[in-house]
Amino acid sequence: MYIYDRQLKGPEPKPITSVPEFQAEMEEYKKLQERRESLRKEHEKRLAPPLDLFPMYQDVPDGDFIGQPRAKAAPTISKAGADRINRVSKTMTQALRLAEEALPFLKTSAQKELLKQMAGGLGTFFPTGFGIFNEKGEAVKASARMRFETNIRQPGGAISRVYIYDTRLFMSDQHSPSAAGDHRAIGDRASQIRLYARQLASTRPQELVGVAIHEMTHMLRAIVRSFVGRFGSAAASEFPWRETAPLLDFSRLDSHRIKMEAHFARLIAVLEKQANVRFDANFAAFRAGQLLEEVLAHVFTERVSDAMAKADAVKKAKKGPGEGIGLGVGFEPMKFLNEYISSHWFSETALISALKSPQAQSVIRGMSDDLRAIVGAMETQVGP
Ligand SMILES: [Zn+2]
Repeated sequence: MYIYDRQLKGPEPKPITSVPEFQAEMEEYKKLQERRESLRKEHEKRLAPPLDLFPMYQDVPDGDFIGQPRAKAAPTISKAGADRINRVSKTMTQALRLAEEALPFLKTSAQKELLKQMAGGLGTFFPTGFGIFNEKGEAVKASARMRFETNIRQPGGAISRVYIYDTRLFMSDQHSPSAAGDHRAIGDRASQIRLYARQLASTRPQELVGVAIHEMTHMLRAIVRSFVGRFGSAAASEFPWRETAPLLDFSRLDSHRIKMEAHFARLIAVLEKQANVRFDANFAAFRAGQLLEEVLAHVFTERVSDAMAKADAVKKAKKGPGEGIGLGVGFEPMKFLNEYISSHWFSETALISALKSPQAQSVIRGMSDDLRAIVGAMETQVGP
């Protein structure tokens, strides 16, 4: 349980009229200030959980999988599929251990907190707890539920309201054309992460850390959007955690997002013409917002990769030289945009080939500088 009562307001001091009254009022006001201060301190304690705790996520056993038809023959998975999933699950468990070892090497407390929340949240699903989809996308095993729960006390009010957000995670044996994983919002109170074992079968643990960060970034941003939609952005200024809220708040990147939306609208016009399709009217706006999540995931993965390399170097110094972590390639806007678009926007072959056309690639090339600017702004937001 988490109390989120950040607005503690007392009455304003009245104007001075006469000396004795003023004295009495000053006394009152001082008492009030002291009370506020002690409430603030207590509040702070609740907002800053000890390092080894992840109070936000509860691992709740959950037998029912909503939306899954019952009574038919239970879906099964092939032996090869189950092996693939087990292999990726083991690698993910190693990845989460690497992330934990990297924690002390991150440079800011906000980064440490964000990684802790991400890795801690994924601990609900690894090594056990994740659900399983077979090749056809049928649920073979239900997922544990990662529950995010916050109590919001309205300013001055005794009534608190509960905010709940549930996420489930499935390892899937489905064929995925390009995405290693995806995050889907289910309404505005729940979401589902899928990791595609066929795509991830030979991924190394340190690379899987990036995949984990990526999907958890989408998840945390979905929570923030859902919370802001319900309580407004003022209430969300310390949400989901005081430390990490500034990292997950994209309001300072608004002008960048608007530029990207215009680029995406141009690209969509080209794709529509070439593939003879129609996109939804809000597509460009939605994808421009999603791109910011993509960039945050990218920048944060770089920070974590750096920290992992440092943690690895410390280990190697103890054990003697071995295979390096070997991450950290330079940022290439064209590669980044092509990967992002092909793994997030569509999977239709007509669109995938339209994306490769010279016209589409020329529009994408035109985005490069603005994307670099977004990465720069995000690097400032995330910190060194
Ligand atoms: Zn993504």
